[in-house]
Amino acid sequence: MVVTDKGEYEARTVIIASGKRTRELNVPGEQEFKNRGLTYCATCDGPLFADKNVAVIGGGNSALDATLQLIKIAKHIHLINIVSGLTGDPIMREQVEASDRVSIINNVKVSAVLGNKFVNAIKIKKEDREETIDVEGVFVEIGLIPNSDFIKDVEKNELGEIKVSLRNETTQPAIFAAGDVTDVPEKQIIIAAGEGSKACLSAFRYLATHRF
Ligand SMILES: Cc1cc2nc3c(=O)[nH]c(=O)nc-3n(C[C@H](O)[C@H](O)[C@H](O)COP(=O)(O)OP(=O)(O)OC[C@H]3O[C@@H](n4cnc5c(N)ncnc54)[C@H](O)[C@@H]3O)c2cc1C
Repeated sequence: MVVTDKGEYEARTVIIASGKRTRELNVPGEQEFKNRGLTYCATCDGPLFADKNVAVIGGGNSALDATLQLIKIAKHIHLINIVSGLTGDPIMREQVEASDRVSIINNVKVSAVLGNKFVNAIKIKKEDREETIDVEGVFVEIGLIPNSDFIKDVEKNELGEIKVSLRNETTQPAIFAAGDVTDVPEKQIIIAAGEGSKACLSAFRYLATHRF
């Protein structure tokens, strides 16, 4: 039984494909400049910032991955990290730290995103001191939250992503999952679509091979 705010639906299989939502900065200017210089996906939007100065916000694997992608595209990258050091994979960290196209700014918080029609700067804050950095792009890379809170009966990993087998089975029979809400690596449309079709075929096979 799937319970929604519009009714209840009985089914013999369910496919969960509720995706992920981005963790936001919650600072002035973020909503205003979303998709106008401020983005949450370097893989998707990186090429729009060729030869531009940009900021990547974060200090973990997502931010390091975004920075490494942007090193090949952007002019200069300001990596803005809220804690005292980068926390991601050591090999990615070394590459980022070795690049003369990256300035790592630790122990600072983004306090605002500024611009006119498009982003033209960010404001950062260290203790009581505020500083403005001119950038044309802001990549918010502080993580994605899976929309999986509503389902309690399936196993999830430490990030809250639903664990699935190669056939998109969850740990509960008849419940399948696909796309960004699962622990399948890489969150991209083509992958989610492929996983969705795999989940449909698995649900079909489940129905065809069980007596009800
Ligand atoms: C800003 C941004 C830009 C991106 N750009 C690109 C790009 O250029 N190229 C690319 O390949 N990928 C891009 N991605 C990634 C891509 O959007 C995802 O990988 C893909 O959409 C995942 O598909 P999905 O069906 O798993 O989830 P989604 O597309 O997120 O769909 C999930 C759906 O489930 C609904 N939902 C959530 N919770 C519930 C619930 N409890 N009950 C019912 N419904 C629910 C949501 O409202 C949503 O409609 C981008 C992602 C973001 C955030």
